[in-house]
Amino acid sequence: MKTQVIIRQLIDALGADRVLEGAAMEGRHAHIWKMEEPLVALCIVLPVSTEEVARICEICHAHRQRMVVHGGLTGLTGATIAEAGDVVISLERMDGIEEIDLYSRVMLVQGGAILEQVQEAARERGLFFPLGFGARGSARIGGCIATNAGGVNVIKYGMTRNLVLGLEVVLPDGRIINGLKKLVKDNTGYALSQLFIGSEGTLGIITRAVLRLSALPSSRQAAWLGFRDFEGALAWLRQSETALGGKLSAFELLWGDTYEAQTATSGPYKAPLAHGYPLYVLMETQGRDSDKDYMELASLLEEGITSGQFEDAVLAQSAADLQWFWNIREDVSIMAGIAGYVQSFDISLPIRDIGEYVSSVKAAVEALDGVVKAFAFGHLGDGNIHFLVCKHSGSAELKAAIDELVYGPLAGYQGSVSAEHGIGLDKKRWLSLSRSAEEIELMQQIKQLIDPYGLLNPGRILDIPEKP
Ligand SMILES: Cc1cc2nc3c(=O)[nH]c(=O)nc-3n(C[C@H](O)[C@H](O)[C@H](O)COP(=O)(O)OP(=O)(O)OC[C@H]3O[C@@H](n4cnc5c(N)ncnc54)[C@H](O)[C@@H]3O)c2cc1C
Repeated sequence: MKTQVIIRQLIDALGADRVLEGAAMEGRHAHIWKMEEPLVALCIVLPVSTEEVARICEICHAHRQRMVVHGGLTGLTGATIAEAGDVVISLERMDGIEEIDLYSRVMLVQGGAILEQVQEAARERGLFFPLGFGARGSARIGGCIATNAGGVNVIKYGMTRNLVLGLEVVLPDGRIINGLKKLVKDNTGYALSQLFIGSEGTLGIITRAVLRLSALPSSRQAAWLGFRDFEGALAWLRQSETALGGKLSAFELLWGDTYEAQTATSGPYKAPLAHGYPLYVLMETQGRDSDKDYMELASLLEEGITSGQFEDAVLAQSAADLQWFWNIREDVSIMAGIAGYVQSFDISLPIRDIGEYVSSVKAAVEALDGVVKAFAFGHLGDGNIHFLVCKHSGSAELKAAIDELVYGPLAGYQGSVSAEHGIGLDKKRWLSLSRSAEEIELMQQIKQLIDPYGLLNPGRILDIPEKP
């Protein structure tokens, strides 16, 4: 049997303890939110080096065997779900931080390094890795790069794409592409590492990365603000950006019912601002002088209240307050917990259209039978809004109806069906809403060039047409 030969060869390459099949896969899953659902796969392999990843790919390539890559399993597009015949390659044992170069301000890490540990290692050396979001304790750097993750600091530091200088990647046939340069400037032909960033594991497996670090901000100030309307929040974004120079690092918007759910009296976080405002903003600044930065934000807020630009504001007074403020924004398990099923979205559209779009889509989704709530929140500074739709039913019809209501209007705004999470398996049907036929064809040609048999993360992002 072909599968037995493949497993035999994988065991020869890695050892029996790192090729898990049958009962040995017990306790394994395809997503951290679905840990009760067992992983379906032929086997899961646990390489510890780039050479082992390359050998796995060589074996699978020779047998035309499908492979699915696993990072921290926090992705939100179904991309880590495998089929019964798939070999799952998990990078969990390749989690080392190999080097921190203080002069070049770069860090060399393995693809399985956990984001929070990368942040911590940088902090210990007085440096800062600015990629940050709620799932940082589980997400792995290879997964973050493969999805070009965004998060809460994009307004100041950019997406993952801006934070990666070089990559080492294993291609589906086992070739190793070493692009681990520490150079900020390198115009020697095509930017190959960039091609793999955001490719969702369809072109290669990211085994190591050179990450770009920044100076550690020694001061962080944060405030919650209550707004009467969307236009007011938008005007304040632009005004505060100008007033604070480059210090504004986050500008997160929560619709009133989202804030109220996150700070309900029955929940773990009390409300810093009273309930009742239609919109709430959490803004943060990062700088070098705590007292000065605090006073600067305090006087800006004072000015905003006096001139009637928003209704009320409260400033964090301590590190504990800062944590509390951010928990309200990031601990989505609270709103997700109000019903049995959750459908999440990460769309983007021109900033000025967000208020109108969210009002109409939210109302339409909440009018559907089976929907309990459509919570809206997001990174306003990046034009990126998340919907977390809580519902009583997991039916495919309801899911499709919600998709239609959320994605359908985006074409009219020239928006994107994925600002951060990617396309994976879940959003494939909607790709053509954000990308032209010519762009999709070019993506298919690139995939066919690198993975002609469609073995790596098959069916993610797009399908490859059969050759005539
Ligand atoms: C509570 C919560 C909050 C979140 N907030 C944000 C947010 O603010 N911004 C944001 O962008 N995302 C967010 N996400 C989504 C998710 O955390 C990110 O997409 C993250 O980058 C995924 O990393 P991972 O290691 O978990 O990848 P996985 O889920 O394991 O995989 C994601 C994709 O990357 C591929 N992949 C994984 N590792 C590799 C590798 N080494 N080489 C090649 N391909 C690989 C997988 O095959 C899959 O296609 C959030 C998720 C949760 C649960």
